[in-house]
Amino acid sequence: MKEDYYEILGISKGASAAEIKKAYRKMAIKYHPDKNPGDSEAENKFKKAAEAYEVLGNEEKRAKYDRFGHQAFEGGGFGGGGGMNMDDIFSQFGDIFGGGFGGGFSGFGGFGGGGQRRAKGSNLRIRVSLTLEEIANGVEKKIKVKRKVQASGTTYKTCSTCNGTGQVTRVTNTILGRMQTASPCTTCGGSGQMIDQKPADADAQGLKVQEETVSIKIPAGVEDGMQLKVSGKGNEAPGNGIPGDLLVAIEEKAHESLQREGDNLHYDLYVSISEAALGASKEIQTVNGKVRIKIEPGVQSGKILRLRGKGVSSLNGYGKGDLLVHVNVWTPKTLTKEQKEFFEKMATDENFQPNPEKSDKSFFEKVKDMFS
Ligand SMILES: [Zn+2]
Repeated sequence: MKEDYYEILGISKGASAAEIKKAYRKMAIKYHPDKNPGDSEAENKFKKAAEAYEVLGNEEKRAKYDRFGHQAFEGGGFGGGGGMNMDDIFSQFGDIFGGGFGGGFSGFGGFGGGGQRRAKGSNLRIRVSLTLEEIANGVEKKIKVKRKVQASGTTYKTCSTCNGTGQVTRVTNTILGRMQTASPCTTCGGSGQMIDQKPADADAQGLKVQEETVSIKIPAGVEDGMQLKVSGKGNEAPGNGIPGDLLVAIEEKAHESLQREGDNLHYDLYVSISEAALGASKEIQTVNGKVRIKIEPGVQSGKILRLRGKGVSSLNGYGKGDLLVHVNVWTPKTLTKEQKEFFEKMATDENFQPNPEKSDKSFFEKVKDMFS
């Protein structure tokens, strides 16, 4: 039969939260293992009190316990009695005794993590301006970067404050006996090392700025505003630290004749009335040089010709966008006397009357087509 939690703490069932806390605090001090070395009965009582407080000190758990008794916690948690380990118990102490007890305790191997911390160098940020051609095909850029590197001739020695452990431990005498807390060493920033000798041109951390050419592989399909990370090409860290990263912000230069829309490109092609009527062979600018396309006789202004695969390579590596050529028929803004007479003659010609067929789709249908 498990002991009643209220009885363990020596309080009544109607005890207030403050009374529960007070009762537990009293027992924790009385039976603390540091005060009762080798006394297994005291340790047992210490654990029981902690278990009781774990439940009664929590409003929700206490309500469950009041309704169902020990059964409320069977199957999970610490049903077997005294199932809390010392780390669990000590983690309660910050709550009971206020701050300062959250760190490790001596004698219980309570150091959380600990050990040396490797300092990390700061990140560097640069902008890279790319042409549409570079974006469409991907490019390797060599960029000059001013980064902090470890100055040659800098030597390190073991930090005298923490003796190279990266941590400072402090022992204090408290009501619970000797407490040991650990925190990162402020002298060396947790690295365990400090500078012994450094050249005159190095800064306080033994670093100096150096211009370096960094090669950056930019995949095809990047977009303006994207950021690429080149690991380890930021500022170096002192001593055994690890270098920061180089963060590359992508800027896209505007193209003089091509407009980008995701992986697709748009090109405005102007043809004369004569070319539209007679057909023509026209040169088109693409991201991989110029190509020639054939304009059929009788082409309508607003027609869109799709050149498959002549767009931007997709960033995810799957396929390429298209180049969409928008045909614009150029109407002369002024006419000579002869030209005027020519068009006047044609004005009533039946062949010059607009007569759109189903294949001469409206603008909206073309747009719908483009995105399907
Ligand atoms: Zn140190």
